[in-house]
Formats: sequence, C-alpha cells, structure tokens
Amino acid sequence: MQLTIDNVSKTYPNGTQALKDVSLTIPSGMFGLLGPNGAGKSTLMRTVATLQEPDTGSVHLGDINALEDQHALRKRLGYLPQEVGVYDNVTAETLLNHFATLKGIDSRSERRQVVDALLDRVNLTDARDQDLGGYSGGMKRRFGIAVALIGNPKLIIVDEPTAGLDPAERVRFLNLLSELGEDSVVILSTHIVADVRELCTQMAIIRGGEIIFEGEPETAIADLEGQIWRKTVTKDTLPGHEAEFDVLSTKLVAGRPVIRVHSDDQPHDSFEPAEPDLEDVYFTRMRNGRHPEPAAVAG
Ligand code: ADP
Repeated sequence: MQLTIDNVSKTYPNGTQALKDVSLTIPSGMFGLLGPNGAGKSTLMRTVATLQEPDTGSVHLGDINALEDQHALRKRLGYLPQEVGVYDNVTAETLLNHFATLKGIDSRSERRQVVDALLDRVNLTDARDQDLGGYSGGMKRRFGIAVALIGNPKLIIVDEPTAGLDPAERVRFLNLLSELGEDSVVILSTHIVADVRELCTQMAIIRGGEIIFEGEPETAIADLEGQIWRKTVTKDTLPGHEAEFDVLSTKLVAGRPVIRVHSDDQPHDSFEPAEPDLEDVYFTRMRNGRHPEPAAVAG
C-alpha cells in the first residue's frame, strides 16, 4: 500500500495559498510530516482524508483515486484529529460500540469482538466501564486511536500526536503508534521534531505550503556529519554570535546559552564539533529552503 500525492495546490477564499504544488510518495510504515504552525500540514491532511478538496492535483491510496471515489478512501481511513471530541457521560465501551455500528459492523457479536480487541490494543480494558469525562489526556488520545482503528484502516492520519501529553503518557502513546505501521500508511503530522525522530523511517518537511525536504531522517542526519558546531556563550555575546554565524538553535544548559552552528569548517577555534541530530536537519532545511546542499566544487 502506498499513498501518492501529485501536484496538490490549495488557495483559500481569503487568498491564503496554503499548498503550493505538493507532491509526496508515502510508503507503508510511519511517515512524519514536519513543519511549523501555518505550514499547511492540516490542509494537506484534510485533503488526503477527503474532508476538503484541493484546487488542483490528485491523491491516490493504492489504486483508489481519493478525489473521485471518496467513499472507497473513507472506508480505508482512520483519522485521529488533534482534539478528539468525546461525550463525557458515556463509557468507552458504549461509544466504541456506537462508532463500530456507524462504520457498518452490523453483527452484534462481531462488534463485541472488535470492541474487546481494540480496548485491549490501546490498553483501556480496565477502564472500559468508566465515563470518558474521567479519562486523562493520554487515555483520551488512546481512545481516539481505538476509534481510528475500527475497520482495519489502510491509511491512518494522526494530527499533532503528543500535544498536551505528559512525558509518561507521551511514551506510552508513541509506543502504541509505533505498532500501527506494519501494513498501513501511517502519517504523523506534527511540529515536534522529537516525535518524528523517535518513530518515523521516512519524513517530509513542509514550509509555507511547499515540501522542502523528503527522505529518511537517518540519511539527512548523516549528511550533516562534520557540519555542526557547538559553543557555550553568554547572554551578552549571544546577539553578536547570531549576527556572525549560522546559528541553528540556542538552548539553555545550566542557565547558560549553548548555540549550535551550521558550517562546513570549524567557525572559530572556540567551537567544538557536535553530533548532528534531527533538530539540526530541521533548522538547516527551514533556513535554506529547497537548496540545502552547498554548491559542488569542481576538481
Ligand atoms: P498547519 O496545520 O501546518 O498549522 P494549516 O494547514 O492549518 O497549517 O494552515 C496553512 C495556512 O492556511 C495558514 O496560513 C492558515 O492561516 C491558512 N488557513 C488554514 N485554514 C484556513 C481557512 N479555512 N481559511 C483561510 N485560511 C486558512
């Protein structure tokens, strides 16, 4: 199974061009769509989920043309939006059973089996009789996954997967997501680099409605080997460093700013080499846009 997005563009009625000729090929497994707020992630995901139409372009899941046969696409889709609207005074089991009916699982015994298996899968069996209003943020997200998984979807879209989760809930949720990717296309749409780093074998970066990178996180990190430099500075000298060097990011370590700089050579002997990571990839690509590779030197 593969999702193919070809030359998709979208301009909203107010003139905002949210997607500019986006093309992506997304294989089975976990795919990270990374970009800052306003980059066009939700617009692209809503288009793929057939919730809105693009101005131009096409979307195919395997041989299903998503824009011409929305019904076929929706039958194979599991969509987990950021806010899972839940009814507070209903138990997880009742609501899941209700959604399974809506998805067309008519037989009562089959529904019971599906609901049991899904509750087990997302580790909510013990909380099945509890009203959803009493669920924690993490439990609600896991319940959302159970809903998204009804009917064995081949395409699963998860918007901002870990927003609002505490660290323990986040780990549990990411582990659960990582089990989904085996025979489906799973797209995580996020602005959190760590979510992509921990889960995804393929990724794209979107900025201003354009895909500025598509590939493997590992390869992109390896490409930066020898080009990332680190230095502890002071708050006073930080602006000067930012003016002089290609500062990718600044982090406070024990109260002092540590900058990471992108440079082919050691920028100054006060810098030490650093191992590149996916955040360096993200910030380098965000800065350079479509042409991140330095020009090849002949000879
Ligand atoms: P992201 O999900 O990456 O934050 P969005 O797809 O939500 O990005 O938004 C992309 C751009 O389109 C932003 O500039 C946003 O303000 C604009 N936008 C999103 N939805 C609408 C809409 N319904 N009408 C007008 N502009 C919109």
